[in-house]
Amino acid sequence: MLSHDDHIAVAVSGGKDSLTLLNIFVKLERKFPRSKLTAICVDEGIEGYRDEALDLASKECKRLEAKQITVSYRDLFGTTTDEIVKRNLGKTPCSYCGVLRRKAINRAAAMIGATKIATGHNLDDEVQTVLLNMLHGDPLRILRSGPVLRDVRGKFLPRIKPLCDIPEKEIVLYAHLNGLEFQSMSCPHGNEAVRNDLRAFLNQMDQKHPGIKFTLQRTSEKLRELTGNIAAPIELNSCEKCGDPTPHQYCEACLMIEAIAA
Ligand code: SF4
Repeated sequence: MLSHDDHIAVAVSGGKDSLTLLNIFVKLERKFPRSKLTAICVDEGIEGYRDEALDLASKECKRLEAKQITVSYRDLFGTTTDEIVKRNLGKTPCSYCGVLRRKAINRAAAMIGATKIATGHNLDDEVQTVLLNMLHGDPLRILRSGPVLRDVRGKFLPRIKPLCDIPEKEIVLYAHLNGLEFQSMSCPHGNEAVRNDLRAFLNQMDQKHPGIKFTLQRTSEKLRELTGNIAAPIELNSCEKCGDPTPHQYCEACLMIEAIAA
C-alpha cells in the first residue's frame, strides 16, 4: 500500500475509524523519516454534527502533532450539505454529499502534493458495499474496488484502505483502549436504508456464523483476481468545467453543483 517516501493524505472525519487510522499512521510514520503525513478534514456544512467532529479531529491532530488541512464545501462548491438537503432535489443527501466529499478530498490532497490518499474504511464497510453493489446490479463496481485503488492512467491519486480487514468492533476497542475521543453521533442526513439493513443482516449472520464477513471479503478479492482485466479502466476526458478526469464531458460533481445552483 505504501512506499517509505510517500506523502500520505489521511482523510479524517473525527469518527473512530479515521482517528484510529491517523493514530496508527502517526506512530508508523515516525519510523520512516522520508515519509510525510497530513490529515485532511472536510467541512460539509452539517450544523450540529460536523462542527463537533471537526473539533475532535483538530484536537487529536494537535495532540499527535500531525499536520492538518481543512477544506469546506462552502469554499470549494459554494454550498453546504444542509443547503442541498433543504432544496429537496430528489436524490438522497448522501448521493450529493458523497460525490462532493470525494472531490473535496482529491482537491485537498492535490493542494498539499500528497502521493496517496488513505481512508478509514473497515471490514464491515467493505462487505456492506460488496452486497450493496450486488443489490444495485453493479458487479463492475465490486471488481473496480478493493484495498488499493490505483489508476493505471495516473489521473487519480492512489487510494488505500489500510483498515479494510479490521472488523468495526476491533476498531472501537482500539479507540477506547487508546483513549481516543471520537464522534459517536450519526449524521442527521445519513439515511442509507439498504446499507443499514445490510449492516444488521451481516452482524446477525456473523454472530451465528463467526468469520462470515472475512469470507465475503475474501470472495470479492478472489473475484477480482479471477476476472483480471474484465473491469478494464474506462477512457477518461478532462471535465470541461473543472479539468478533473471524467468519462463524460463534465464530471459528476460539476453536474451536481450546476443542478444545485439552478
Ligand atoms: Fe454526507 Fe451522508 Fe456522510 Fe452525512 S452520512 S456526511 S450526508 S455522506
